[in-house]
Amino acid sequence: MEVNFKRYGLYLVRWQLSTPILAVVLYWLAGLGALAATVVANLIGGLIFFWVDRFIFTSEALAAQWEVKEKVRCVDCGKVARGYRLVRAENYDKSNDPAPEFRCEECSKKKSEELKKRGVKH
Ligand SMILES: [Zn+2]
Repeated sequence: MEVNFKRYGLYLVRWQLSTPILAVVLYWLAGLGALAATVVANLIGGLIFFWVDRFIFTSEALAAQWEVKEKVRCVDCGKVARGYRLVRAENYDKSNDPAPEFRCEECSKKKSEELKKRGVKH
């Protein structure tokens, strides 16, 4: 399974941000009773987080996808280690690569710099 860790991480952070909103609204509207206050808190949360979530799931800036594989041979230095490869970015798509190239952390960083110089945003 391919997981976009940037989006996933942001999504987890965004859930934490909803916690203080819920807490504050429940405190303010305690007089309404827990159920009504929770309804209002979730309504406020929904009004805000619709936009935040839309950004998290559709922003091209977050579109870079990496694949990580354990114990693969680095195509540059031949070392067997945890391998990384950029699968997809805004103007880069290797998702159907028949021979995916993995690189060790060190070589992956070098390759990443090279791609950035070539204008691949990730
Ligand atoms: Zn390497």
